[in-house]
Amino acid sequence: MVGKRQSFNDYPKDYIGNLFKDKGKQDIYDKYKEKYPLDIEALIKELDIKIEYKDFPDGISGRFNGNNVIEVNKCHSLTRQRFTLAHELGHYLKQHEGNCHRQSLLTYNSKEQIEESEANLFARSILMPADEIDNFFQEYKDSMQKENFNFIKHLVEKFNVSTDALKVRLITLGFVEGW
Ligand SMILES: [Zn+2]
Repeated sequence: MVGKRQSFNDYPKDYIGNLFKDKGKQDIYDKYKEKYPLDIEALIKELDIKIEYKDFPDGISGRFNGNNVIEVNKCHSLTRQRFTLAHELGHYLKQHEGNCHRQSLLTYNSKEQIEESEANLFARSILMPADEIDNFFQEYKDSMQKENFNFIKHLVEKFNVSTDALKVRLITLGFVEGW
């Protein structure tokens, strides 16, 4: 079930490091990038970006308003809020114009769709780095053979992400073929 990962569809740590470097903030990423679950909230605050928790309708996860404020839907689950924070940080680091994180990609124009895909890829990559997943599978190689070993549960806890987000990450990296 678990295979060798492919190198596409990923922002490796050195690429993410360069995005921080462009903002003159690589030292901040370096401080956080070895410890998981990533403390995304503390990292963002160290970048002098303010986080505001809002009572948004369910269809809106969050927003980067361009004035160094990230707004997050406080009604969503913690793991979803973490993903939203990472997603909006992606918009900031990749110099996208301030925009809203809507539920359906169909409501975006093509430039926005590319930016949304990039922000989602950024979020998956910074929260669940491929090298950390690699290390995990190396470390647990023997346990993986046991039928009752729940590697999904281990990884969900390691990264503090939703099961769905983890599964998307494992599939797009080619670690697994699907469920
Ligand atoms: Zn977005």
